[in-house]
Amino acid sequence: MKFDTIIIGGGLAGLTCGIRLQKAGQKCAIVSAGQSAMHFFSGSFDLLCRLPDGTEVSNPVEDMDKLPEYHPYSVLGKEKVRKYAMEARDFLMSCGIRTSGDCTRNTWRITPTGERKPSWLTVSDFTALDSKDEKIAEKALIVNISGYLDFNTSFLAESFESHGTRCRVESLKLEEMERLRNNPSEMRATNIARVMDRDEIWIKAAGFVRDMIKDEDLVVLPAVFGLKNAEITDRIREVTGVRTIFIATMPPSVPGIRSQMTLKAEFEKAGGRFLPGDTVIDAIRDEDGRISSICTYNLGEIRLHADNFVLASGSFFSKGLCASPDGIYEPIFGIDLNCSDDRAEWFDRSFWKRQNYISFGAITDNHLNASKEGKIIDNLYVIGSNLGGSNTLHEGCGGGIALITALAAADEIIGKMEERR
Ligand SMILES: Cc1cc2nc3c(=O)[nH]c(=O)nc-3n(C[C@H](O)[C@H](O)[C@H](O)COP(=O)(O)OP(=O)(O)OC[C@H]3O[C@@H](n4cnc5c(N)ncnc54)[C@H](O)[C@@H]3O)c2cc1C
Repeated sequence: MKFDTIIIGGGLAGLTCGIRLQKAGQKCAIVSAGQSAMHFFSGSFDLLCRLPDGTEVSNPVEDMDKLPEYHPYSVLGKEKVRKYAMEARDFLMSCGIRTSGDCTRNTWRITPTGERKPSWLTVSDFTALDSKDEKIAEKALIVNISGYLDFNTSFLAESFESHGTRCRVESLKLEEMERLRNNPSEMRATNIARVMDRDEIWIKAAGFVRDMIKDEDLVVLPAVFGLKNAEITDRIREVTGVRTIFIATMPPSVPGIRSQMTLKAEFEKAGGRFLPGDTVIDAIRDEDGRISSICTYNLGEIRLHADNFVLASGSFFSKGLCASPDGIYEPIFGIDLNCSDDRAEWFDRSFWKRQNYISFGAITDNHLNASKEGKIIDNLYVIGSNLGGSNTLHEGCGGGIALITALAAADEIIGKMEERR
């Protein structure tokens, strides 16, 4: 099978790149082994929340100058990063994902434990605050689904009250949820959201919530609505009649899975071929060291050929990078990595401290081309969290790196395609 471009990994980076390429007239395939980081999404894409030394960032675009030269934003160049950061919101919108936010000013998202963290683009069902200390309302009614343990109302109430909001906590009991409650492991965000996606159920739930409101000016609900369609959250707001916000739950993430499904549908609508549940296990190189084809677990002897390949296989979490007693390696192409050979430098024994292994990953040139033994492979691009040089957890830049490098790599490939015409 022959494609113009094959993308390995169908998370945020792979899908973004695939959509851009497919819409530009390329014939693309995405091979994707399994779940992506979007299943654990907080509801906000982060562009740059902190500098490596821990300094909080308020204007991500301005502070990019302070990043080290090996950071993916520095490798790509500030102008390109700014351009794609400006474009990202419209790109998501064109795929059907509504967000708010701006790359020149971080806002504050509310985490499942009530903490406030800087963020860039926040999906429409969530609320981003203008300042860390903002008093969100005078009085809030926090409602949980009875028996649901992944939404901690006490933490949220404590956090809201520390910012001056008086809180009342209520529990919503629905007979339709009782089947899930028979087995506590079924009482997870996505299973609840599947039930809540039915019109008669969310209308009933929203009606119960409306009846609980006394004099509160804010209703707070867990983000377990709108697995297929974010508009349900707007309609719940209409029913309750007071300002209603949805707060991220512990994973799985309903808005994350919805966003992932929306991007996948957009890729397929544009004519792309998505091969789910398959793992790329090897690559064939020609005599110049360029990649000519790849092999997958399911396709066996059948190789997938393409002019260009994009590695979007994620970091350790998604098995895009692996660690063995002998070192860190990228399992498909064996490309050059930015990492330490000294195991003692991989991690800090204190779980809460900065973990170095998160910044390990592929080295590229400023076209995002990978190298092997120091030699650039000009038809292999690396995007997203497979890239080294940034500590996405510590710096809060994972979503930005995924979106920006995906759009940049797609434009590199489109540029080459247009040159050939
Ligand atoms: C748990 C978690 C939560 C996060 N939450 C946020 C957040 O809320 N906001 C934010 O901005 N950033 C977040 N991040 C950072 C995150 O890395 C990026 O936001 C982004 O989603 C990463 O996308 P990606 O496409 O690069 O990688 P991934 O999402 O990791 O996707 C890689 C994909 O490649 C597939 N794959 C791997 N190897 C192969 C193979 N050999 N063959 C075929 N497919 C393969 C995997 O199965 C997976 O589907 C989070 C990261 C993690 C780990």
